[in-house]
Amino acid sequence: MPMISKILIANRGEIALRVLRACKELGIASVAVHSTADADAMHVRLADESVCIGPPQSRESYLNIHQIVAACEITGADAVHPGYGFLSENAKFADILEAHGITFIGPTAEHIRIMGDKITAKTTAQQLGIPVVPGSDGEVKTEADALRTAREIGYPVLIKATAGGGGRGMKVARTEEDLIEAWTTARTEAGAAFGNESVYMEKYLGKPRHIEIQVFGDGEGNAIHLGERDCSLQRRHQKVWEEANSPALNVEQRMKIGKICADAMKKLKYRGAGTIEFLYENGEFYFIEMNTRLQVEHPVTEAITGIDLVHEQIRVASGGGLSVTQDEVHFHGHAIECRINAEDARTFVPSPGTITHFHAPGGLGVRIDSGAYQGYRIPPYYDSLIGKLIVHGRTRVECMMRLRRALDEFVVDGIKTTLPLFQDLVSNQDIANGDYDIHWLEDYLAKTSA
Ligand code: ADP
Repeated sequence: MPMISKILIANRGEIALRVLRACKELGIASVAVHSTADADAMHVRLADESVCIGPPQSRESYLNIHQIVAACEITGADAVHPGYGFLSENAKFADILEAHGITFIGPTAEHIRIMGDKITAKTTAQQLGIPVVPGSDGEVKTEADALRTAREIGYPVLIKATAGGGGRGMKVARTEEDLIEAWTTARTEAGAAFGNESVYMEKYLGKPRHIEIQVFGDGEGNAIHLGERDCSLQRRHQKVWEEANSPALNVEQRMKIGKICADAMKKLKYRGAGTIEFLYENGEFYFIEMNTRLQVEHPVTEAITGIDLVHEQIRVASGGGLSVTQDEVHFHGHAIECRINAEDARTFVPSPGTITHFHAPGGLGVRIDSGAYQGYRIPPYYDSLIGKLIVHGRTRVECMMRLRRALDEFVVDGIKTTLPLFQDLVSNQDIANGDYDIHWLEDYLAKTSA
C-alpha cells in the first residue's frame, strides 16, 4: 500500500476537524469538502484546501460519491477518511475508491458488507468465537418458525430487522399472544423503512448495559483491543454519555472479552478501527453489532490509553501496521464524554441558529472536540451534535469532579443545548455510583419531566 500524502476528509463538523488535526500532526496535506451550507465551517477554514461538493442536502453533497471522487481527482488526494456516519460504512464507496486507486481509510469493502447485514454479522461473530444473544438461526420466515423459535429461547423476545439500523423495526413480544402481531408489524415496518422485510429473533434482555470493545487490526492477521466503553446512557438508542472504563467491569472481565474480540479480528484479518458492541447483563456479554469505522465516542479510549486512534487508522491504511502491541496498551484513569447537541435539554427538539457567545472550558484533563465558535450559524440540515466534552481523571471520582467544573465553565449562548442535562446527570447519585443500564436515562427523563 502506498504512503499517504494527501487526505480528503469526506465529512463535516467535529469529526472533520478531528481528522484534520491528525493530518496536521503527521504532516499530511488535507482537503475539506463541504456543502454550500457549510462554506464557513471550521473544518473548511483549517484545511489546506477545500472543495464545495453540492447543495445542503446530504444526499447531494456528503453522500454524493461521484462528487467526492471528483474532488479527490481535482485535488490529487490519494486517500479518503470517511469519519463516522455518511459514507463511512458504505461498501460501494470503498469499492469505487479502490477502483480509482484511492486509499479508503477503513476496512475492506467485504468486511463492511459482512457487518452491515445483521444476520451475516451475527453468524460471523459466532463463528469467530464472540458470544451472541440467543436467538433464531438466521431469518424468521414464517409464523410457525416464529412460534417455535420463541418457545426455544423463552419470552420475552425481540424481533429485529435484518437490514435494521437506528433502532427501527424492533418489536418486543412478551407472550405467545403478542408474538404473531409483533412479528407481522416488525416485517411490515422493516419493509417500509429498509425495503427488506427480513426479520430475525433474539432473546429480549431486560436490564442490560451497552458495553463496546474498541478493536484495531492491521489487515494481515495482527489485531489488538483497546478496552471498552460503557455507552449505556442512551435516549432513543442514541448515546448521550460514554465512559471508559465501564463502572461495571473489573480487570479480568475486561481482558477476557477484549482478548475474545482481538482474537476474532485476527482470524478475520480485520483492517483498521472497529467497535464490537455488546449488551451486558448478569456478567455475560451478548454481541449486537460491529461498527466498521471510528466511533463518535473514540476520545474516551484515547484519554485512557494515550493512543491517537486517527493516527493509528492512517498508519494502518498506509501499510505501516499497528504502532503498539497488546502488551504495550495500558489503561490510565477514567474518562467521560458528553455529547453536546444543539437541542432542548428536555424535549430534545433541535435548536439550529447562531451561537452568539461561545466559551469552551479548559484546564487539566479537559478536551473539547467541536467546530463551533462565536458567530457560527448551525445549519438545520445535519445532525445536532455541536461538540464533545471529554474529561479525564486518575479515578472516576476525580473525573466526575473535573466534569462538574468543566460544565460550569462551558458557555454556549444563542441556541439551546443539552448542557443542562449533563449538569443534572453529574450531580445524580446513580450516575455517581455508576449504577445505570440502557433504560436508566429514559426512565430518569420520564420521572423528572413529570
Ligand atoms: P440498531 O442497528 O438499529 O441500532 P442494535 O442491534 O444495535 O440495532 O440495537 C439497538 C439497541 O436496541 C441496543 O443498544 C439495545 O438498546 C436494544 N437492543 C438490541 N437488541 C436487544 C436485545 N436482544 N435485548 C434488549 N435490547 C436490545
